[in-house]
Parts: sequence; structure tokens; C-alpha cells
Amino acid sequence: MTKPGLPAPFIMWFRNDLRLSDNPALHAAAAGGAPLICLYVHEKDEEGLRPPQGASLWWLHGSLASLNRSLAAEGGRLHVLAGDAGEILDALVEASSACGVHWNRRYDPSGREIDARIKARLRDKGIAVESFNGSLLHEPWKVTTRAGSPFQVFTPYWKEALRRGDPPMSLPAPTRMSFADVPRAVAKRFAYRFELDADPQKPDWAASMRGLWKRSEEGAHERLHAFLDEDLKGYADNRDRLDRQSTSRLSPFLRFGNVSIRQVWHALAAREHAGSLKTTGRDIEKFKSELGWREFSYSLLYHYPSLHRDNIHPSFDGMPWRQDKAALEAWRHGRTGYPVVDAAMRELWATGSMHNRARMIVGSFLVKHLLVDWREGESWFWDTLVDADPANNPASWQWVAGTGADAAPYFRILNPVLQGKKFDPDGAYVKRWLPELERLPAAAVHHPWTAGAAVLDGAGIRLGDDYPRPIVDHDTARRRALASWKAMRGRDKEEL
Ligand code: FAD
Repeated sequence: MTKPGLPAPFIMWFRNDLRLSDNPALHAAAAGGAPLICLYVHEKDEEGLRPPQGASLWWLHGSLASLNRSLAAEGGRLHVLAGDAGEILDALVEASSACGVHWNRRYDPSGREIDARIKARLRDKGIAVESFNGSLLHEPWKVTTRAGSPFQVFTPYWKEALRRGDPPMSLPAPTRMSFADVPRAVAKRFAYRFELDADPQKPDWAASMRGLWKRSEEGAHERLHAFLDEDLKGYADNRDRLDRQSTSRLSPFLRFGNVSIRQVWHALAAREHAGSLKTTGRDIEKFKSELGWREFSYSLLYHYPSLHRDNIHPSFDGMPWRQDKAALEAWRHGRTGYPVVDAAMRELWATGSMHNRARMIVGSFLVKHLLVDWREGESWFWDTLVDADPANNPASWQWVAGTGADAAPYFRILNPVLQGKKFDPDGAYVKRWLPELERLPAAAVHHPWTAGAAVLDGAGIRLGDDYPRPIVDHDTARRRALASWKAMRGRDKEEL
């Protein structure tokens, strides 16, 4: 209960918006002048919610810690609880006599359902509940075709989104905030017991990631400005190059809201207007369109409730995916014998991230060369990516597998050798992640099995011992994938 004479507190429920600046829900809550209870809830893996796990949980932990430090600098703190969000909010509102709750929206169907239930129940009790757009340029229900249906194809989607104009200007961090605590009984009942796998000790699998990422609002802005000032130049040409570090590496920051999409958008626009970008329209448009793919993925998540479970194109329900544990394990751990695939999977393990072109190559390899269900890949990425995103991950996997909206057709099978040669011509990327191939000449690095005995000897490699032979032959695998796809389509036609 609020002590007599003290103003009723207001609850700010943080979710995928772990920042103080340009946080519309926080901004509005602070503007009301009530003391804030700043809350984060580790929700259970129930009702179809997909809480972060593995690498993205590690990111979340770092971000919560840094948000807590930012709040502490203002005299407050972040209260981290665990359990059912509805129960927690009921108990917290009751025990603290809070007069309102704010949050920024999420777009996964389970999260939306939970939020709608909480909103209705609290409003019935006379509590002021409001939700805001804190993570997208445009709400997904606003960017639709003239007939009001969701876009299935990216280009018209993005044209329509751009036609709607720039998003509102970013908001500053609140200048004056006062705070209240979670009453002790509630804190005790829903205490969050720190999970060991979130900040791993034995083994410390996050050791190699720790030095790479600054999981905070400050880290996000440093990355954003470094990208705009240094790396955006040449982005359109370099984006696909595996051996060049030319992309923004903003994805985990956007995923957890260490920075908002509006801040990215307006930082770019401000430099463009000031003429301080070192680059031309092409790089800018290309970068904006990648942000557009993120928006498009969120639109798909919003409109296709089981994006990570069900094929958008149900004809793929009859695809004869193979159950091949050994092949899946080889793929997961970078032991397929195709250097560009293996380098990418080892990059993922070491850094919690992977270049976009590499994600396309390893995705195609899994669902086409190995004929393994895309959901296996999606779930491995969900565990190992720091940016594991409820929209981008399943939408991109469905794109790669040919099962999704505006997807790469299944019959377009990426050849890992040619992809390696094209996007990593000197083999620098491969050699970085596969040091055992370090001494191979560039001409052989993407297909060591064709190198002669003298070349392999000279590079100190015994194929099969130091580095695996290919687990599938490209041409055979390609024929098998196409035959399976054709058989699936044949069955599909018979059923019509
Ligand atoms: P940049 O090239 O700098 O792009 C800027 C931002 O645009 C990114 O940070 C991201 O938010 C967005 N973006 C870029 N490409 C895409 C795309 N194809 N789809 C949607 N948004 C995009 N991205 C994730 O954020 N989380 C995921 O879980 C994820 N899983 C993927 C799985 C597969 C199989 C594939 C092919 C792609 C996946 N992507 C995912 C998309 C993309 O690979 C990453 O967003 C990108 O590599 C992140 O690097 P960056 O921040 O340097 O990107």
C-alpha cells in the first residue's frame, strides 16, 4: 500500500526497449510526475511465448544490468522479477496501489494476447494502462494493401511504408524521474533466481563474446555513430562481402531496444541533411531497405501467428525433410567439409552473430543440401544468436527455405563453393574462423578436397583428420533437393 500522503506510483514495464532515451512508454510515465516502479519480468516459456535463451539471454542479462546502472544514476533501480506477467502485475498493483502501467508494444501473437488480457483486467480495476510503439517505424496494421490485407511481397510493402513518411522524432531521456520500490512481499514471491546459463561459468561459453559487444544503450549509440561515420560508405557494394566488416552490427541492439529504430532512422537523416555522411544515396537507400526488411518481418509476425512453427506456404507441409542427426550435428558445429559453411557456423559459436550472406549460405545448405527442416536451423539460431529475434529469425528462415513470403524459391540452391569464391575471394573469412586452413592457397580454400596431395601436404592438412571431407556431394545433394521438391509439388497438384 502507498503510505498516506505519498503519491501513488506508476509502473513502467520494460520489455524489448531497454533504454532511457526515445522510450515513449517511459517518457509518458515520467511526464506524469508519479514515482516510477521500473519493472522487467522474465516470463516463462508458456503460451507460445519464446523467451530469450542461450546467447540472446546473455545479451538480455547484460542489457538489464546496464539499464539498472542508468536508472541508479538517476536515483532508481530496475526490479527484475520472474513468473506470469499477469499475476505479477496484479500483485504489484495491489500491493503498491499503483495508479497506472505503461509498456511499449510487442508483436508476437502470444505476447499480444497476454498484454491484451492484462490491459483489460487492469482497466476494469480503474488502472490507467497504456501501450506505445517503441520498436517499429510503423505499426504493422497500418502498412497494408489498399484492400487492407498484409503485403506478401517486400518491394510494394516498403514503398507503402516509405510513402507514409518519416516516423515521429525521437524523444530525449526523461530529465526528472522519481522512483518507488516493489513491495517486499511481491519481490520475494516473484524473485528472479539468476540462471547460470545466462552468464555462463563452467564452461564459460560467452568468454569470446564478452569483449566483442557492449550490451548497453551507450554501446548501441557508439556502434551506430561508428557505423554512420565510418562504415556506411560502400555499404551497398560491400554488404555481401564476408571478408569485409561493412555492416552496422546493430541487430542485437535493435532486438532488445538498446537503441530504437527511430533513433537509427533520425541519426541517419540528420547526417544526410547536414551533408556530413561520407557517402551517396545508394548506400543510404540500401541501409534503409534493410531496416525495411526488419519492418516487413514484424508485419509477417503480426499477421502469421505461428511464423516459427508453420510454413507460410502450406504446400511445404508435405516436404519430405530428412531426420539426419549426424548431418545436423555436423552443420551445427561447423564440420560439414564446406569451408564457407563451417567458418560461418564457427563464427556464430564464437561471436553470437553471423554475417547476413553467411546466414543465407548456411540456411540454404541445411534445408537444401542436407534436406533438413528449416525449423531445426531456426531453433539452433534461436539458441546461439545474440540477436535471435521473434520476427527476423523465423521470417528469414522461411525466406531461405522458400516456404515464406517473397521467399527465395526452393529451386534456387546456393552453391557453397561459388558463394565462397564470390564473397570471400581470398579466403580471408574462411581462414579467420578455420585456422586449420590458414596455409591453403586461396585457389583451394573453398574446396580443399580438390587440392592435390602436394598442396594439402604443403598446407599441413590431412583431409578427414585435420579438416573433414564434404559430408555431401554438391551435385548429388542438389539433385536430391530438387527431386524432393518436385515430388512435393506433384503431390500437391494431385491433391488439388
Ligand atoms: P545491417 O546490414 O547493418 O542491417 C541493419 C539492420 O537491418 C539489422 O541490424 C537488422 O535489424 C535489419 N536487417 C538487416 N537484414 C535483415 C533481414 N534480412 N531481415 C530482417 N531484418 C534485417 N536478423 C536479426 O536481427 N535476428 C535474427 O534472429 C535473424 N535471423 C536470421 C536468420 C537467417 C537464416 C537469415 C538469412 C537472416 C537473419 N537475420 C536476422 C537477418 C540479418 O541476417 C541480420 O539482421 C543481419 O545480418 C544483422 O547484421 P547487421 O546488424 O550488421 O545488419
